[in-house]
Amino acid sequence: MNSRGRLFVISGPSGVGKGTVLAHFLKERPGVRLSVSATTRSPRPGEREGESYFFLSREAFEEKIASGGMLEYAQYNNQYYGTPRAAVESWLQAGEDVLLEIEVQGAMKVRAALPEAVLVFIMPPDFHTLRLRLSGRGTEDEGTIKKRLFAAAAEFQRAGEYDFIIVNDRVEEASRALGEVLESARYLVKTNQTFISEVMHDAQTESLAD
Ligand code: ADP
Ligand code: 5GP
Repeated sequence: MNSRGRLFVISGPSGVGKGTVLAHFLKERPGVRLSVSATTRSPRPGEREGESYFFLSREAFEEKIASGGMLEYAQYNNQYYGTPRAAVESWLQAGEDVLLEIEVQGAMKVRAALPEAVLVFIMPPDFHTLRLRLSGRGTEDEGTIKKRLFAAAAEFQRAGEYDFIIVNDRVEEASRALGEVLESARYLVKTNQTFISEVMHDAQTESLAD
């Protein structure tokens, strides 16, 4: 069987509760890895270097792109966001499941580079709830909130390209659903391509040898 870990991409509009659901989920599943992204945006109160993000200058970020150190990157709200490649590759190699919490452009780049990646989109129960959560978080000014809600409309248009949808109504339910997605992913054809190829190869070589 394929002993490589599986890669999961989690997207959803800002404020939908991705961070909250993932924090809940990872407490219950400490064996699952969450990639720490790099960004050029400034830290929000309470965010810690190397835990929430690696906070980089534009120059440092662009150097990392140029040296091939990003698995994917995108610009969002005029800031760079990207997934450092090395940690993700070594976890997958070690057979560990890895979650990337990234926006839609990055998700599609990951799918193009690694077609076996499983894409999960987190939806709010409705748009009004998204607005309330975004303003309730109290970390962005009105202008930024407006921009993020505008961006959300475009993000919902891409939700249909994902493999799974999870509605974050109650955190515990959404976290449980994510666990079911990780479980179901074991049975997806695209996460079993290496296994299928191996058996097919043996079938061809051994049936010829008979
Ligand atoms: P994201 O990571 O998607 O930007 P956050 O995890 O920061 O979103 O959540 C945005 C706000 O919504 C936070 O104040 C969080 O406490 C709240 N929140 C998240 N999930 C729920 C939920 N299921 N019910 C109520 N509030 C929630
Ligand atoms: P925030 O500024 O709210 O932390 O994140 C803004 C958006 O950037 C979110 O949709 C988040 O999922 C996305 N994001 C965070 N890290 C990455 C990353 O490494 N790559 C990409 N493409 N998007 C990211």
